[in-house]
Amino acid sequence: MKNASYEVLDIRISDTKEAIRGKNIFYKCNICESIIPSTPKDNVNCSCGNIGIDKDLNRLFVTDYSKFVILERKA
Ligand SMILES: [Zn+2]
Repeated sequence: MKNASYEVLDIRISDTKEAIRGKNIFYKCNICESIIPSTPKDNVNCSCGNIGIDKDLNRLFVTDYSKFVILERKA
């Protein structure tokens, strides 16, 4: 399996509505180091539950924004 490389986007948000989404956009939790896609096919959470996406509500949930990082996947 090919390892993807990620670039950290310098975006600080205080509301999940500000978070960008996209095929190559991923969210990282700095507590548990999980990386989750911004456009998942199903509901997804990081391991510790700090970040989650509810696909049905089409909503992103973040508990601790200081541990939330937006990444862009590089080909
Ligand atoms: Zn986490």
